[in-house]
Amino acid sequence: MAVDSPLRVCVLTLGCKVNQNESQALAAALRAGGARATAGDEREEADVYVVNTCTVTNLADQKSRKLIRKVIREHPGARVVVTGCYAQADAEAVKSIQGVSLIVGNAGKPALAEQILGLAPGFCPEVKAWDPETRTRAVLKIQDGCRQFCSYCIIPYVRGKIQSLDAESVYHRVRELAASGCREVVLTGIHLGAYGLDRGEEDGLGRLLETLLPRFPQTRIRLGSLEPAEVSPRILRLAREWPNFCKHLHLPLQSGHDDILTAMNRPYTTAQFEGTVGQVREAAPDIAVTTDCIVGFPGETEERFAQYMEFVKKMAFSRIHVFAFSSRKGTPAASMDRQISNKVKLRRSRELIQLGMDLSRSYGAKFIGKTLSVLVEQRRSPGMWEGHASNYLTVQFADSGGEQRDYAGQTADIEILSWNGQGLTGKKIES
Ligand code: SF4
Repeated sequence: MAVDSPLRVCVLTLGCKVNQNESQALAAALRAGGARATAGDEREEADVYVVNTCTVTNLADQKSRKLIRKVIREHPGARVVVTGCYAQADAEAVKSIQGVSLIVGNAGKPALAEQILGLAPGFCPEVKAWDPETRTRAVLKIQDGCRQFCSYCIIPYVRGKIQSLDAESVYHRVRELAASGCREVVLTGIHLGAYGLDRGEEDGLGRLLETLLPRFPQTRIRLGSLEPAEVSPRILRLAREWPNFCKHLHLPLQSGHDDILTAMNRPYTTAQFEGTVGQVREAAPDIAVTTDCIVGFPGETEERFAQYMEFVKKMAFSRIHVFAFSSRKGTPAASMDRQISNKVKLRRSRELIQLGMDLSRSYGAKFIGKTLSVLVEQRRSPGMWEGHASNYLTVQFADSGGEQRDYAGQTADIEILSWNGQGLTGKKIES
C-alpha cells in the first residue's frame, strides 16, 4: 500500500459501554497515526475491519461470529482483525473462521493501533484518548477486570485481573481533555468500584474523585456503573459538596429478591441496597439513580417476581435497563435448576420495562418548572438543540427568537417545560 494513501480502518463494536469506549479510543489512536478510521458501519469500504466482540451471553457469541463472517464475505480483499471478549474467551472458535487475519485478546488492545498501523508502513502512531472534533463528553476507562464472580457472568473468567490506571495518569488525561475543550468526563471500568485494589488502595475511587473534583471545577465528572456496596461515605460527601460531581449514579440491582440475589452471588440484600439509595438521596436529593435488572433468573417464581417489582417501584429508579436472563456457558447459573421459559422471561421483561418507563416519567416530571444546567451536545434539527443535564436526563430546547447560534459544547440554563416521553424539553434562559 502506498504510504501517501491513508489506511482505511473500520472499527465495528458489539456489546457494552467499555467496548464502545475502547473502540472509540482505538479509532482516535488510528487517526492520530494517520489512518482514516471510523467507528461505524460494516457497509463502509475499508482496508482493515476491526471487530470488537462481546461474549456476555451465548447470543453475543453468535452475533460476534455472524458479524465476522459477514465482513469477510462482503469485503474479500480486506484484512479482518478480531478483538474483545469473545476473541479472548474462545480464540479457537475465532481461528476456525476462515479469513480472519489477526486475533487480539483484551490484554493486547492497548497495542492494537500500532499493530494495525504496522499493516501500512510509514505511519507513526501517537495515542490520543479523545477526538475533540466530535465530542463534548469523553469516556475514560480507568479500570479493567473483576473478581466478584456473580454467578451469571463470564467476565471474571475472561477479564479477571484487576488493573487500574494510577491516579496521576488519570489526572493528566483529564487535564488534557479539559484543556482541549471537553466539558464532561465519564470514568468507567469493568468493575469501577475496584479501582485501585490492584495497588492495595482502599476506597481508591473516592480518593481519585477527591483529587479530580476540586482541580477541574469547569469539567463535570460522571461515574459509570458502580456496585451498590461500593458507594463509600467519601463518595457520598463528594456528591453533596461538589457541583461538578454529576448527580447520577448507576447502581446495578440485578434482582429485587433476596433469595435470587444470593443465588446470583451478589454481595448485598435488598435492605442494604435500599439503605445505600437512601444515603445517596440524602446526600443529593434530586440525584438520578439508574439501574440494571435481570429477569427470569433460575428460581425466580411468580411470587418472587412480584416482590421484585414492588421493590423496584419503591426504589423509584429514574431509568432501568432490563435484561432477560440468558444462560452463559461456563458460569454456575447455566447449570442451576428451575430455569425459566423464554415466554415467561419475555412477559416479565415487558412488565419491568413498562414499570421503568412509568418511573422515568415520574422522575422527569419533578423537574418541570425548574431550571437545569445542560451541557449541549448537538443540533437535532434547525434551531433545535439537545444535551444532557447533570442527572443525565436528555434535554431538548429551541433557539430563543430563532437565533442561529452554535451552542455545541456550551452549558446552557434551560427552563424545563415538559416531558416528551424520552426526555425533557424546555426553553433557554437568556443570561
Ligand atoms: S460485578 Fe458481577 S456482573 Fe459485574 S463484571 Fe463483575 S462478575 Fe460480572
